[in-house]
Amino acid sequence: MNEKLLKNIRQVEPYTPGEQPQTKVIKLNTNENPYPPAPGVRSALASMSIDKLRLYPDPTADALVSALAECYDLKKENLFVGVGSDDVLAMCFLTFFNSEKPIFFPDITYSFYDVWANLYRIPFECQKVDENFRIRKEDYYKENGGVIFPNPNAPTAVYEELDFVEDIISHNRDVIVIVDEAYVDFAGKSAMELIDKYDNLIVVQTFSKSRSMAGMRIGYAISNPTLIKYLNDAKYSFNSYTMNQTSLALGVEAIKDKEYFEETVHKIVETREWAKEELHKLGFEFPDSKANFIFATHPDFDAKELFEALKKEGIYVRFWGSRRIEQYLRITIGTRKEMKALFTFLRTYMNKGE
Ligand SMILES: *Cc1c(COP(=O)(O)O)cnc(C)c1O
Repeated sequence: MNEKLLKNIRQVEPYTPGEQPQTKVIKLNTNENPYPPAPGVRSALASMSIDKLRLYPDPTADALVSALAECYDLKKENLFVGVGSDDVLAMCFLTFFNSEKPIFFPDITYSFYDVWANLYRIPFECQKVDENFRIRKEDYYKENGGVIFPNPNAPTAVYEELDFVEDIISHNRDVIVIVDEAYVDFAGKSAMELIDKYDNLIVVQTFSKSRSMAGMRIGYAISNPTLIKYLNDAKYSFNSYTMNQTSLALGVEAIKDKEYFEETVHKIVETREWAKEELHKLGFEFPDSKANFIFATHPDFDAKELFEALKKEGIYVRFWGSRRIEQYLRITIGTRKEMKALFTFLRTYMNKGE
């Protein structure tokens, strides 16, 4: 293609998602929930009217927004919903990161952030996490064009308490701070309780992990009504009908069933704590996980070789091989049975016996 023509094309380095094999494997590579969605989701799906699909979905997503507002004791004006939190986060980048100054995020973090920054031509500067993979909050005191970080962070699974998060928000009153809480339900307190105290805070959550709905693509932002309005204005100038009819109806069912939600989250946390012990016994090292995955390394076994051996066995975990994390694997917490299969294989592979 000729140079001049190429110059008019936006060329971006895309995000590389984890594999979605179409065969049956033990899938511990993309942090999905190993349990099915709430029972109400099944019945709502079964009784969905085909005729409704003729019509455009409700552009305000009112049923879902109302259900979320009720669940979190918020006003509808505090909520923005989108097609997975990836859509919500991308919309936040577009709406809130418009400075000439670089936005800040950790060097080891969700690998979509630099992709969106490049796509929207937002300057960015990564702040190095320390040798224990902890964010250094002082790095975020410098002047910047906005801040985003996940809590717990991905793929490290490190969670910081609310006073730590608040410290970063309070040092950045002139820019928007986005806290990406994709895994907070497995960890501890959400920063959503700070939205009335700080007008520069956006909290983003998702149905993909703790609510077993990755396939439905539902995410949401929680903030003050002013920032939510800016998000909606951006959305309506882009695509009014982001969320489909089915996602809206099933999302409502998922959010209504608090008991099922708490029960599955509890099961995953329990399995995680047990998995930590098993991994320790095998000689793995990892930062303490508060998410539904563990970011582990082994002093005697090469991560890439382990990754490939596991894959051959039909056990998928995530491996990047990128700088600072070349020797790490991210292992999603599956069911106890799935984790047992993982450990049985590892024991044999590492020759540790039973
Ligand atoms: C999984 C994940 C998301 C995106 O989830 P969606 O499926 O798009 O809702 C966002 N941020 C982090 C840190 C994640 O791990």
